[in-house]
Amino acid sequence: MSERYFVDEPLSPGRVMLGGPEAHHLIHVMRAAAGRRIVLFDGSGAEFPAVVQQVGRSEVELSVAAREEVNRELPAEVTLGVALPKGDRQKWLVEKAVELGVTRIVPLRTERGVAQPVEQALLRLRRAVIEASKQCGRNRLLQIGEPRDWPDFLEEAAGVPCRIVAHPLEKGDRHASPFPAEGLLDAAFLAIGPEGGLTAQEVALAVAAGWQTVDLGPRILRVETAAVLLVAMLVQQFA
Ligand code: SAH
Repeated sequence: MSERYFVDEPLSPGRVMLGGPEAHHLIHVMRAAAGRRIVLFDGSGAEFPAVVQQVGRSEVELSVAAREEVNRELPAEVTLGVALPKGDRQKWLVEKAVELGVTRIVPLRTERGVAQPVEQALLRLRRAVIEASKQCGRNRLLQIGEPRDWPDFLEEAAGVPCRIVAHPLEKGDRHASPFPAEGLLDAAFLAIGPEGGLTAQEVALAVAAGWQTVDLGPRILRVETAAVLLVAMLVQQFA
């Protein structure tokens, strides 16, 4: 895949100035010079082959040759509700969710959860989304929504046929996996509980609203592992 850079405004063929961290990367890390061919994307679903015209101290002038629609999205919109873990594990989860094609992550506030990211942390995560999209070739940015309370999240998902929450079951209670996901058409909602687990009441609330539960096996997974596994199970349906 070509070297890719993100521009935070709608692009079109013609002259473009690249600034900020992306210009820094191109100038100081990649040591760009005039004539270098790169690819720009603006999150709109298209990508834009471009040629470096002039390299300044903190800005790069580029000429964009064309707009090319290149779709590397999943066929369904996938919303992942997750009580985010802390620090690096949070960033790891976001990176993997971008790679696997998740459309949107909604940080969940649950009874046994830890505090969800504040504005500053959300900004850092949005930067992680851009980095991962550059690397994996996605031309749409995964959105990180505002933190939501569990009941509000369930309400938002109402009416979506494919709604699955990961919840470890007692031995003996294990049942068949809901995959292939019933009703998987163009949208899915997935949910992962916090390190402390979802309470029985929280799971009951989801089930009453029509969610399916899925058990991911006899070992207890970290939040981010469970999230990646659940998304991967869904992505398999499209393979
Ligand atoms: N302490 C909790 C586990 C929490 S793990 C307990 O013992 O029940 C964090 C979240 O990851 C869970 O809420 C669930 O959504 C998911 N998860 C982890 N391991 C899982 C498994 N084996 N099956 C289903 N979900 C799992």
